Parts: sequence; C-alpha cells; structure tokens
Amino acid sequence: MTSESTAEKAAGAILTVDLGALAANYALLCEKAAGAEVSAVVKADAYGLGLGPVAERLWMEGCRTFFVADVNEGKALRAVLPEAVIYVLNGIFPGTAGLYAAAGLRPVIASLAELAEWREAGAPLPAALHFDTGMNRLGMSAADADAIAQDETLTRGIEVSLVMSHLACSDDEGHPRNALQLARFSGIWERLRPRFPGAVASLANSGGIWLGADYHFGLVRPGVSLYGGNPFTGKENPFRPVVRAEARVIALREVEPGETVGYSATWSAPGEGDSGRKRVAILGAGYADGYFRALSSTGNPESGGVVHIGGRACPIAGRVSMDMVAVDVSQVPEGAVTRGDMAELIGPNITVDDVGLRAGTLGYEILTALGRRYMRRYIAGPERDAVEKEGRGQA
Ligand SMILES: *Cc1c(COP(=O)(O)O)cnc(C)c1O
Repeated sequence: MTSESTAEKAAGAILTVDLGALAANYALLCEKAAGAEVSAVVKADAYGLGLGPVAERLWMEGCRTFFVADVNEGKALRAVLPEAVIYVLNGIFPGTAGLYAAAGLRPVIASLAELAEWREAGAPLPAALHFDTGMNRLGMSAADADAIAQDETLTRGIEVSLVMSHLACSDDEGHPRNALQLARFSGIWERLRPRFPGAVASLANSGGIWLGADYHFGLVRPGVSLYGGNPFTGKENPFRPVVRAEARVIALREVEPGETVGYSATWSAPGEGDSGRKRVAILGAGYADGYFRALSSTGNPESGGVVHIGGRACPIAGRVSMDMVAVDVSQVPEGAVTRGDMAELIGPNITVDDVGLRAGTLGYEILTALGRRYMRRYIAGPERDAVEKEGRGQA
C-alpha cells in the first residue's frame, strides 16, 4: 500500500473499491456467457459500491445494457451514461409512465395494466416484458403471453426489445426448479419470438449463467458476481473480491481476568492472573457503517464477526456498537498491532460471503448495507495501476 494521505489517516474506516477487479469479473462473465450480451445489474447503488464509478467502468469494458430497480435510480444512471440502454426492473408505478419516457428508460413490464400505461405514454417506446415462471414475485403469466401473442393491439406502438424471467434458485445447480423455470420460459419465448423479431430473451442472473448455455438466451443479467460476491451456495467463488472495508485501530487495551468488554457486558476475559489477561483492539467502525450488530461475539467460533488484523483472523469481543467494535487480538504477537493500524473487516482474507454467513445473512445484504461514513477510494486495479478517483460515488 502507498503511504496514507492526511485525509486517509483521519478516516476511521476506509472502503476501497477495486474497479480493476470489477472489470476482471465482467470479463469472466463474458467468457462464460460467450454468444450472449452481458448486461449489468446496478440497482441499489450498484449493490452499495457506488453507481457512478461502477457504471462508468463497466461502460469502458463494453457493457451497454444496465438494469436498475426504479425510475429514480434510472435517472441517476442516465446522468452518468447518456447512451446506455437502461431497464427499470420494478416496472411502471401508476401514473409515472411519462417519467420513464422523458429519461429514455425502458420499463420491465410485469402486468397487462402496466402494458396499457406504456401504450398510452406514446409510441414507439421500447420496453421489456417480464413473465413469471416460478418466482411468484413479479411477471405476467403464461396466459398473458398467449394473449399478447394473439392480440396485436395489446402491444400496439410498443417496441418490445426484451422478454425476460427471473430464476428463484440459481445459487443451487441441483435444484429442480431451475429446469422447470427454463422449460416454462422457453415455452413463452417460442410463442412470442415470431411476434417480436427485434427482441432478445433473458433468464439468467449470476448463478443462472453457470447453469449452462441453455440458460443464456440472448442476454444475461449478472449482479452480485460483478461485485465479487459468491452467487453459489456450497461452491467455490470464481470471482475476484472488489470491496475491501478496513477500520482503524483507535485504541488498544488490556482486559484483566473477570473484566467485561462493551455494552451489556457479554464478553469477559476468562481465567486468572497474567495468563487470563486479554489484549483488545478497539476499531473505528460499527453498525452505523453496515457492520451488523448481529456480528457481535456469540461464544461459537462459527458465528459472530472475525476481523483480519496483524496477519491473523481475530474474533470480535462483545457487542458491535454504533461506531466501534472490539476485537480480541491476544493471539497477535505483541507489537504487531499498533494504534492507527488498519484492520480488514471485509476483503481478500475475510470475504463478503464469510461476513454474511457469520451475521446470519448473505453477502448481498452486507454489500448493499455498506455505510455512508466510509471514506471511499476507487482504484483501477493493480494491472492498470493507480487511476485513483477519491471520494466519488459518495452520498
Ligand atoms: C437483482 C436481479 C438480478 C441480478 O441477480 P444476481 O443474483 O445479483 O446476479 C437479475 N435479474 C433480476 C430480475 C434481478 O432482480
């Protein structure tokens, strides 16, 4: 690491987003989905990483189609990428079709009522049609697909550019629902394809891309894998970590046997005398930074947070508080941790998926909960070297 600037030294916690790793993950997805267009799902501020820098870098890597959740995210992305194709996954909320059209956004239409609103918004306007094939969340039915195939007036003046569905269980390649959803979606696409020669089909999110070429169709929609999260359950993660969250050691203390650490006194130094004394580091990040209180120590080595510090994985001691967390560094050689050092909360040693598991959730939630207080650094990645874009993407 390069020497820290004063602004960095003053930051209690620093979030580094490696845009080079993002680019490498995009390249891996393109390789795996060869033949299909690889779009990027950048909803929720690019899964918490920062919409602007992420979208710009993906555009540089050749990505041209993006998905956001709602019209406000779409407008923010339009300001960054004037030429991108932008789909809005949550469809059209009543009375807002004009906003989509004005920002050049394409709604992902999930009901015949939304379809009617888009027809009335003026023609010819591009849109995606979303069909439900087993998630039972958003999407039109197979009967709606039949109606659309038979009745041209339903899509009059609409340029259908995409026909899509979403997989419920793509993290688990053995789950029977994957093949069921593929069969249902293929049936819908066969019926609609002749009606909309300009459209492409799309089924796969990150996990779906690994289910095989049958699942790729014309366009794939990865999200979490771009950001280094593991889209699979119980399978190794082929993607590079993109996020590194570090917190500063703001104090070091010795805790005498029988003494407790933190709110509600849930952790104590066991034993007696010198052998029972513990060394604890106090770090400058807490649940206000998205380091969940559920990462508080539990006494069980499988759960509760772990932090990488002084070259070792060290357990959290006691409750995570709003702005601080205590870590038991008794195993780290004396002198290997000093005040002002940085400890890794999330990164190459403690993956975002580990943190999710230990907090009783998953990597997706850890990423999207990353706090606004981190000092953010965007680096282009070691292979492209040091185009540092400090502070961008901050709220
Ligand atoms: C969020 C989302 C994705 C991306 O899913 P990942 O598992 O993050 O790859 C794709 N499609 C739809 C409809 C989504 O809502």
